[in-house]
This record gives sequence, C-alpha cells and structure tokens, in this order.
Amino acid sequence: MVVAAPVYAGVPAVKVLIAKSLKNVVVEGMDLQKTIHTHKSSQQYVGKKVISFNCNPKGARRALPRSPLLVASLSSPTGLVSWGKNKYQGELQLLTNPGQESCDLVNNIPLEKYLTTLLAKEMNGTWPVEALKAQAVAARTYALDRVNKGEGFDNPDKLYHLESSEKDQVSGTFMDVTGKTLQAQRETAGEVLVSPSGKLAPAFFHSKCGGKTFRPDQVWGGVEEGYRSVNCTYCRKTGMKDWEYRLKGAKLGTMIDTVLRKYYADQSSPGEIRLMPDSVENSELRFYVGDRLHIIKKSYLRNQAGRELLPSNNFVMSGARGDFHVKGQGYGHGVGLCQLGALELAKRGYDYRQILSFYFPRHRMKKAY
Ligand SMILES: [Zn+2]
Repeated sequence: MVVAAPVYAGVPAVKVLIAKSLKNVVVEGMDLQKTIHTHKSSQQYVGKKVISFNCNPKGARRALPRSPLLVASLSSPTGLVSWGKNKYQGELQLLTNPGQESCDLVNNIPLEKYLTTLLAKEMNGTWPVEALKAQAVAARTYALDRVNKGEGFDNPDKLYHLESSEKDQVSGTFMDVTGKTLQAQRETAGEVLVSPSGKLAPAFFHSKCGGKTFRPDQVWGGVEEGYRSVNCTYCRKTGMKDWEYRLKGAKLGTMIDTVLRKYYADQSSPGEIRLMPDSVENSELRFYVGDRLHIIKKSYLRNQAGRELLPSNNFVMSGARGDFHVKGQGYGHGVGLCQLGALELAKRGYDYRQILSFYFPRHRMKKAY
C-alpha cells in the first residue's frame, strides 16, 4: 500500500499580523495548548476552553520591555483556534507592543494553508480556478520571499513576516476557504516564480492595471530582475471605472512640496507650477516650480495624495496656471499580476501558466518544496 506523504511536510510557516493594539484578547478552542513564553510554562486544557488575556494591566507600562516580545502561543489538536468570530488554522501568537499597553495578534500558519484563506480575499472564491491558481503562485512567491528574508528584514522590531492588509496581501480566516481556493492551492502546491537567473522573485500583484503594468523600479525605485511593463487590455471592462477630476494648484503645490521633502531631500521654491507634457508612458512627472525643474515619481505623489485621490499610478496630469486636470485608469500599484486581467484571461481559456507568463514574461516557474 502506498502511504501518501503528509500534505504539509516540509512547508515553511509564515507569521501573519492579523490585529494590532488590542486591549484584551479572548481565544477559544478544543483541548487548547497554551505556552507562556515569558514564564517558560506550557499547559494543555481538556475539552472546550476560553482563555482571556488582559493586555492593559495596571502599571504595565513600567514592566513592559522596550522591544516587542512573544508572550504566548495557542494551538489546538483540532487545528483551529478561534479569536472572536474568526477561526484560524495553525497557531495564534500574542505579542506585546513596545511602550504601549496593548498586544498584537499573529497567526503562525503553514504557507499552503495560508494561501487557501488568502485566495478568497485577494480575488474571489468563485472566480475561475485558473485565475485563482495564477494568484496562488504569485502570492506563494511573495510570502516565501518574505519568509526567506526573515521577520525583521525591514524593521528589527517586527516579529512577523507579513501583514494581512493591502500593504502586503489580504488573508482571511478558515471560514474564507472554498472548494475552489483549496483546489487552486493543491494544484499549484509548492510552485513559485523565479527570475531569469533563478532567484526567487518578489512577485507583486494588484487589482487592476488599467491598460499597462509597471516594473517595480518605476513605482518603488528598487530594481527587481526580470520585470517587464506589459500592455494589458483585459481588465478594461471590469472593476473601477476610469477616473478624472480637477486639482487646484495650491493643493498640488502642497503635495509636491511634501513629496520633494520626503523622497528627494529637496523642497519646492516659491513660484508657479508649470507641468511639462505628460503621457501614460511616463511613470514620472516633470514640472517647473519657478525656474527649477523637478522630476518626481507618480507613485510617490499617489502615496502622498492617498488612494481616494489617486487610485492608481497609471494617470496623466495636465493643465496650467493653478488649474490642473488628472485622468487615470485602474486601481492599485500596477506592478506584476493584474487580477482583473487574470480573471478575463481565465474566462477566455488561458491556463494559469499562460496567465503568469503574460504578466511575468521573463520569469520561470519552479517547485520551491
Ligand atoms: Zn490589467
């Protein structure tokens, strides 16, 4: 008889921040295993158990360390632990916040299980399975890259790899898993994207490119090997409609000044803003303030303006004399996989490998484990 290997053997675990600045944490589960790391003690409860943590005890501020600390871990042999209405697979970890009287909650979960909850949130559990599979490979690649970089790679105070938010990728709970998200994860298990030289690629994705995707260097500045900007017409008819509005010169002036200070160690001098001709091909804006020429990334202006004002980096600005006009398409940063484009390609019969090679034409697929 052939015995199947355990599905998750050898799969790395990913730590995902699911909630911040909590005053109280109440977790629930069957036969809960509780480890208090600060006391080096462990306890197993029998039957259903509710455990309450007070993250704001009297006088705690003095006692709290200056850096975050793993306080407690909770898991259950059933595989599920509840926090409020939500059920999580893997382990829940309670962290203290430095200098604050509150806790953060982290889900430590095998990467493949994490993907089954994420697919329904990042896309939609009812979408064609080939689109979900393309998303699964991109999201696995993104998460594994973060796991390999380590918890504190961009901030030594971080005791997790990812946030469940638009900043990283939006994950769900056990209740978000559907038959299709499970199928998409299983049929791509372990598959990741690698760059032309074979390195794990930070695979980015976004909601709707609106006509073309960007390379990471056009949006964030850091060059990632192998990326191309591709023309995508497949997302045109779905999702957010094209947007346009007028922008007062004074408001644009304030935003430009903040961007120059924040990203370019510069500032604008007094004077009228004169925009140079802009087009969708430009990922940067060129303009004079007074007699000085400035060049800024459109994505930096979007970071400053917010997603309400600039839903994507795919916009064109025009106008003069204190009255400007913004016209744009799409939603999200525009790098890598366009989710609504992937949906349309899957509807037209593309499989997930073809979808991925459309958005990542120079990357290859590989089994990471
Ligand atoms: Zn698109």
